[in-house]
Amino acid sequence: MSLGVYVHLPFCPYICPYCDFAKWPMRPSAANAYLAALYAEIGREPVATAETIFLGGGTPNAYDAGTVAGLIGRLREHFPAPAGLEPEISVETNPELVRTGDFEAYVAAGVTRLSIGVQSFVPDEIRTLGRKHTPEQVRTVAEQARAAGIASVSIDLMFAVPGQTADSWRLSLERALALGVDHISTYGLTIEEHTPFDAWHTREPRAFFDDTREAEVYAIAIDTLEAAGFEHYEISNFARPGHASLHNANYWANGEYAGLGVGAASYRGGERSVHTRDLQRYIEAVTSGQPIPSESESLTGYRRVGEAIMLALRTSRGVDLREFAGRYGVDVREHYAPAIAEYCEAGLLEDDGRSLRLTKQGRFVANDVCGAFLSFE
Ligand code: SF4
Repeated sequence: MSLGVYVHLPFCPYICPYCDFAKWPMRPSAANAYLAALYAEIGREPVATAETIFLGGGTPNAYDAGTVAGLIGRLREHFPAPAGLEPEISVETNPELVRTGDFEAYVAAGVTRLSIGVQSFVPDEIRTLGRKHTPEQVRTVAEQARAAGIASVSIDLMFAVPGQTADSWRLSLERALALGVDHISTYGLTIEEHTPFDAWHTREPRAFFDDTREAEVYAIAIDTLEAAGFEHYEISNFARPGHASLHNANYWANGEYAGLGVGAASYRGGERSVHTRDLQRYIEAVTSGQPIPSESESLTGYRRVGEAIMLALRTSRGVDLREFAGRYGVDVREHYAPAIAEYCEAGLLEDDGRSLRLTKQGRFVANDVCGAFLSFE
């Protein structure tokens, strides 16, 4: 697979109290300066083919559709798709900022996937999360995306939200399904340090889900979405056939990607690097021709293999043993025999002779099982 390109657009109409992304409240002057820096960073990158382009954030549609379309045009020029291939181009969107005609402009620019940040269809939960859209807005946006011809429409939902119940979570899943979307991502709320939710959690830990309750609602997502014909193709992701995200599949396949923008991560030539999360430093460095302050580390040897196993195990395809032997020169079953034996015995992993995969039970403790492969030398 060739490169995946991620572009971070960090401005939001307001800041959600659980969020730990690199993000800032929308200010036109900062947003313009940032865009100019982003164009300059694109110009510095070596020209390369890319099968996927992903605009995330932040809130990409805090910029108007013409600006987003212009940026996509510039990216497609600099990172053309391999000959004969239509690139997958994804944009995250906040439903309350969508304006008439936005998606027609996106489709004309080549956008094939739209990821709508919904989190919940239950007004109380939406309020708890500090979001401001209404379920009605989400329905309109999904319909507009369809009518404009966006090939894959995805919705993000969040579970383990304080105040959520099994019934209210089911309702969100069912409302998403009723919209006829092609893809649903479900994420458990995580408490990120130094966020308002972190302070709330310290004050009132019982307002939040424990592991058992979290596993219960995650199980509801799996059962509901699989029964509706969605494939649970990655721990947090469900798709109708033909609608899995290729951009994310490249991450899980340990493929190479270029991350552009403040706080963006890249992985190329065995090196992982992350740009500074300081907006001003990012803009100043790029516009003055200086290197972008970044942290980087080389992934070599079994560290690299362990990461690749951890990522592959997140997917329903799992670790293809022959492919790993060819790509990394390692006999996974032999080198990781103690961990594989332990988790197979516990019913968390299955080994069918060709691949290693999480069992249904294993999906509930995926972080523990996947993480165990990182500690092998
Ligand atoms: S809209 Fe998304 S990126 Fe922006 S503050 Fe909320 S969760 Fe964070």
